[in-house]
Amino acid sequence: MTGMACPPAALCAFAGAGQVLARLRTLAAHAPQSLVIEGGAEADRRTAALAWAATLNCTGRPEARPCCQCPACAQIAQGVFLDLKAFGGEEKITADEVREALPEWGQPPRGNGLRVSIFHGAHEFHPAVANLLLKTLEEPRPGNVFVLLAPQRERLLQTLVSRSFVLTLPWPEPLAPEPDVAEWLAALLQFWDTGRGWFERTGTKGAADRSLALRLLSACQRELILAVSGDTENSPAARRLARLGPLGLRRFDLVLEQAQEALNQPTVMPALVLDWIATAMIAKG
Ligand SMILES: [Zn+2]
Repeated sequence: MTGMACPPAALCAFAGAGQVLARLRTLAAHAPQSLVIEGGAEADRRTAALAWAATLNCTGRPEARPCCQCPACAQIAQGVFLDLKAFGGEEKITADEVREALPEWGQPPRGNGLRVSIFHGAHEFHPAVANLLLKTLEEPRPGNVFVLLAPQRERLLQTLVSRSFVLTLPWPEPLAPEPDVAEWLAALLQFWDTGRGWFERTGTKGAADRSLALRLLSACQRELILAVSGDTENSPAARRLARLGPLGLRRFDLVLEQAQEALNQPTVMPALVLDWIATAMIAKG
C-alpha cells in the first residue's frame, strides 16, 4: 500500500475527474466484476481506481459519491480501508501474493460495500499472475470487484480485457521529442528499413550516454502510444511503428521495457542497450 495515501479530497482531483466520476457513479449501479482503467498518467489511473473503490463504499448520498468526507472515503484515500486490497506499484506482483488472496476473495467483504482489489501495472503481469487472475475472474466472487491499471488495453492479455469493462481516462498530451532525441529516433527507424547508419552513431564515443538513452526510450514509448491508439496523423515515427502491426507493437513494448530495466543497472553500457533495441526488432522482422 506504500505510496497510496492521499488526502480524501484528492480522490476527486485527477485528469478528467468530472466526467470519470459521473461514469463511475453510473457503473456502480451494476459494478462490473473487473474494470480496466487505461489512459491518463499513472497517477491519474491510481487515483481513479481509489475513486472507484470510494464510489462503491462511500456512505454519502448516492448522487454525490465519493463524498470524500465519510470514514470510508477517508480510509480509502489513506490506503487503510479493510475492503481495499492493492497489488503491485513499486514491486512486481508475484503469483504467491495473488494465491494468498484467494481465500479472502472467497469471503464476503467486511463492510457494507464491495471489496475492491486493485492491480497496479497490469501490463507487466507475469504470465502466472495473469493466469491466476483469469481463473479468479472465471468464478463468481460475490462482493468482490477487481481493477486492472494499464497505460493502454492493448498491453494487457486479450482474455483479461474481454472479461472486463474498460474505462478510458483522457490520454496525456504527447510532448514532441527534443531535437537530438528526434534525430536518434529517426535514425533508429531508418536502420530498421535500411540496416544502415546505426552502429556509427552508438559507436561514437560519448554519444549515447545514459541520459540520451533514457530520453530516447521515453520518446519511443510516446510514439508507441500514438501508434497503438491510431493517432499517427502528426507523427511519421508513429506511422512507421504502426506498420509493425499489433504483435510487433507489443513486442516493441516488451523490448522497451527490458531496455528500461537494463538501463537501470549502473554497470550496463547505454550504447549496448540501444544496439540491442535496434537489432531486437530487426532480427524478428
Ligand atoms: Zn464518502
